[in-house]
Amino acid sequence: MLSNIRFVLINTSHPGNIGAVARAMKNMRLEQLYLVDPQKFPSTVATARASGAIGILEKATVCETVSEAIKGCSLVLGTSARLRTIAWPQMDARMSAEKIVAEKEGSQIAILFGREHSGLTNEELELCHYLVHIPCNPDFSSLNIAAAAQVIAYEILMASQNRPTEIEREVIGAEDDWATSGEVERFYSHLESVLIETGFLDPSNPRLLMRKLKRLYQRARLEKNEVNILRGILTAVQRVTKK
Ligand code: SAH
Repeated sequence: MLSNIRFVLINTSHPGNIGAVARAMKNMRLEQLYLVDPQKFPSTVATARASGAIGILEKATVCETVSEAIKGCSLVLGTSARLRTIAWPQMDARMSAEKIVAEKEGSQIAILFGREHSGLTNEELELCHYLVHIPCNPDFSSLNIAAAAQVIAYEILMASQNRPTEIEREVIGAEDDWATSGEVERFYSHLESVLIETGFLDPSNPRLLMRKLKRLYQRARLEKNEVNILRGILTAVQRVTKK
């Protein structure tokens, strides 16, 4: 039942952490581990720390980019130890687990975990619908990545045992036609080119325009047909500007 949920570890530097995350996942019945550009993997240290969860490491998908790792996902959550300069929709671990289990059966969901030293970049954050923060001591808010994964995984398991019925999920508003990350990313590139072509965006001085627009669309959580409409509009604009 939890096989549609993937944990994505980005650029992890300590292989021991990868093993510890695998163990935390298996303990909580999760199994999809994605590793984006891990600094050392496979590794005997990771294997030792995984203990009985070696199967998760063996099946782990190693990718070069985050986009590859979240391909096909219609809900992307980024975990973060701190608040960001640019506000992004946020929730705590428990709320995020409730959101995850309320998703339509079979929809792919990704949870991103950042680098041990620097967390997620702003570009990675822009791929997320929500940021998830584990409430903790505000003066010491950075958990070890595997400890963070453990808490999130535990909340997902607990929430899944209380999973809303299909009918309740419809009332909560889980749509069946959310756009996937790839569709939304292609829309962003299309939007950016049109903004440049029309002179609205100056590529030599882009400021925060694209980030702010992405925040707007991520907050709206686009459906497939909405992406089609928006891209249709962009194409219509291009027809006029290219005349
Ligand atoms: N110095 C980094 C800390 C990274 S900790 C920073 O300021 O972002 C490594 C990873 O563990 C984070 O990227 C996040 O994925 C997870 N993590 C650590 N503490 C967390 C918390 N309180 N809530 C949610 N995720 C957390």
